[in-house]
Amino acid sequence: MLPTFAYIRARSLDEALQHLAGGGARVHAGGTDLIGCLRDHVFQADKVVSISAVPGLRGIAAGRDGALRIGALTTVADVARDATVRERYRGLAQAASDVASPQLRHQGTIGGNLCQRPRCWYFRGDFHCLRKGGTTCYALAGESQYHCILGGARCYIVHPSDAAPALLALGASVEIAGPRGRRTVPLDEFFVLPSTDVQRETVLQPGEVVTHVVVPRPSTGVRSSYRKVRARGSWDFALAGVALALRFDGDRVADGRVVLSGAAPVPWRSREAESAIMGNRLEPAVCRRAAEAAMANAVPLKRNGYKVPLFAGLIEEELEKLGRA
Ligand SMILES: Cc1cc2nc3c(=O)[nH]c(=O)nc-3n(C[C@H](O)[C@H](O)[C@H](O)COP(=O)(O)OP(=O)(O)OC[C@H]3O[C@@H](n4cnc5c(N)ncnc54)[C@H](O)[C@@H]3O)c2cc1C
Repeated sequence: MLPTFAYIRARSLDEALQHLAGGGARVHAGGTDLIGCLRDHVFQADKVVSISAVPGLRGIAAGRDGALRIGALTTVADVARDATVRERYRGLAQAASDVASPQLRHQGTIGGNLCQRPRCWYFRGDFHCLRKGGTTCYALAGESQYHCILGGARCYIVHPSDAAPALLALGASVEIAGPRGRRTVPLDEFFVLPSTDVQRETVLQPGEVVTHVVVPRPSTGVRSSYRKVRARGSWDFALAGVALALRFDGDRVADGRVVLSGAAPVPWRSREAESAIMGNRLEPAVCRRAAEAAMANAVPLKRNGYKVPLFAGLIEEELEKLGRA
């Protein structure tokens, strides 16, 4: 059953920020994640502030510099079907199309997708784990099939978003409004590892709202993709995923990013894989070396060792495919 809380439907960003400033308040966008968390007592809220009626936070527009500005309230479905996204940011279109089910993509927003809470069954369940202020990560000795193999420390969640790795690969930033004004944060610096803070997943401070996601115009020669492997053919979170955004000079990789989903508590940039492909043609031996390099520092838990070969195969296949595209 849902606990009792005050519900405010803000009519402007200022009104939303005023209500969020008091503490104990939560942002409500599409509600697909928030309402489940409140119902299951994952966290509490005295006040839920809906931003769905705030003007200016919905839609996709190309700016004068050619960058794409996506309002935080734009649904994941609208991102997936936008003509410019499909033409210039293929990896993002693929990732958005892979999020959850059609119903959730039509209700869930891109801002909510980046800010959603982790899906760890201990965190979501009736366990007072580290992330909820307890003293134990139950995954360490428990059921760790869906947990991380990279970047874990004390807590071993994986970041649940499909859009985040694709956006990070494309060099996106988020615009944030809060009680102390506005700021822009590159996605590279937006997500927080458990070694920095075990109780939050982003740098958002209390009372702050993501207002827009900005994706720079891709330079000439950039190709991007996203592919995810899931346990079931229907909707599901990524067991393993890889987002690529690579700039080619002729048939060689000149620059680019390799970002993994389902691997780490944050969308995980594999600099090892990036170094292995830089300046090279994406021939099978290069792709294999890059995949091995990406997994060289993996530390599986008791039950998720399968992820290492799964990621290696996925990265190798995706690099080869993008090389041929
Ligand atoms: C059954 C199920 C399956 C799913 N499968 C996938 C999947 O395969 N891949 C995937 O990527 N996602 C998946 N999701 C997550 C889904 O995509 C997200 O729930 C959705 O995108 C969140 O958007 P929302 O607008 O509903 O967020 P809300 O539920 O409204 O909010 C989510 C969280 O973000 C905060 N928040 C929301 N918007 C903002 C903002 N603008 N600024 C600051 N904080 C904000 C809220 O306070 C809340 O904590 C799944 C969800 C469900 C329920």
